[in-house]
Parts: sequence; structure tokens; C-alpha cells
Amino acid sequence: MAKERTVPESVDLPVICPFCGREFDYTMYPVIKIPGDNRLKKQLLNKDLYFPTCPYCREQFKVKPNCVYFDARKAEMFIVTDASDKKIEEMVKTGDILPEDVRSPEDIPPFIGSLFRRRIVRDVDAFREKILLSDCSYDDRIMELVKLALSRLLQKDSGQHVYRIFLDQASGNMLTFAAVLGMRPPFENVEVRTEASIYTKYKNKYLHRIGDPREDRYIFTDQKWAEESGLLSDEDEGYIMPMK
Ligand SMILES: [Zn+2]
Repeated sequence: MAKERTVPESVDLPVICPFCGREFDYTMYPVIKIPGDNRLKKQLLNKDLYFPTCPYCREQFKVKPNCVYFDARKAEMFIVTDASDKKIEEMVKTGDILPEDVRSPEDIPPFIGSLFRRRIVRDVDAFREKILLSDCSYDDRIMELVKLALSRLLQKDSGQHVYRIFLDQASGNMLTFAAVLGMRPPFENVEVRTEASIYTKYKNKYLHRIGDPREDRYIFTDQKWAEESGLLSDEDEGYIMPMK
């Protein structure tokens, strides 16, 4: 049951620093409800939440949280979890999300599945990206297509496999992406910037070719989805993608 609250539920969990191997407690928030938890949302967008700095060696890294982000007004719900795909997909489709599955308190808000834009991600970078896209009113499927095109260009330019790519910042008329190059560690991190108008061009070209963002088939919208959609298969190399 949903209940009124002024302070978000939190849980302190031990995390291990990947740099020095030492353990410390870190505060996680199993549920982020908008608008009430706007402060947490801002912290996450600023990487002040789920991107701890190790108190021993001062290196910053990211944790693997289980967290549900819920915005009733925008009718969207994003989940970051390491539960199995099948199990979590079923829960999200039916709306039957069990608190213990996301390590949350009993106040997962009620919702009607198909009326919500629902996404499940595995990684806090992807989670943060979904929230950033929502904040900027960008369609995440269109952005995955932009990222796929960028990724292909990067691969061609660098001769390296693009392991991950995320929108890191959207400010003014520029989009800044963080890309991770390589097949295995040690990876190379690069920043790629492009004009925000690229998003509009992709949106105009592709949005009418994809369905309602609330449909079940978009629950796992990511680079794999973009590849499998086949939408970019007719693109010329380097299609409208100025990079800086
Ligand atoms: Zn450390």
C-alpha cells in the first residue's frame, strides 16, 4: 500500500570499492517517487547518488542499486535491478511487483501497467540516462538509434569496439555522450559531443515507424533493441552526424 511520507525510505548496504577493495556502507533508496523525491532525482542526475566516492582512496565508482523510479504525472516507471529478465519482465507487465524483488519497502506505488512507460535496465548509467531523457522530454528509443549511429561512426574512426555508450549530459544545444571502447578491460573512456538537432532529425525520420512507447516490447529499450529494430539498416555511413 502506498503511504504518505516525508522522508524517502533508505537502506544502508555494504559496497566494495573496485579500486582499493575496501568495504564501506552506502545509503541506497529503493524507491524514488516524483515529485516528492525530486532531491534524489537531482542527486542522481548530478552523480551524487549511486556514484559513491570511496572514503579510503577517494576514487569514484558506480554501485549496482535495486531501485524503482516512479513518476505518476508523466506515467513512467524505470527500474534498475539485477533480478532475472524473465522474472522482472513478468512483474512489470502485470504490475505485480513484489517488494522483496526490488528490495524496496512496502510502498511500491500502484499503477496500471499498460498505461505506463516502463523500462528495465541493468546498470546505474542506463538508469540515470532514462531519467535524464525523461527530464529533457527525449524519446529513449530515438536516442538509442542516435547512439547506435554514433557508435558505428566511433567504431569506424577508432577501429575499436564500442562496449557501452550513454548520454551523459544534455545542455543547451549540445548532447554529450560517454563511450567505453574496447572488448574487455582495460577500457578506454571517450567523450563524444554532437548537436542536439541530430535528435530532432532522427525523431522526424523514425518516430512514426515505431509504436507506442508504453507497449511491452519496449520494456528493455537499449542498444540491443536498436540493433534488432533494423531501423538504421538503410542508413549511409556517417549520416547527419557531426561530431566534436
Ligand atoms: Zn577505495
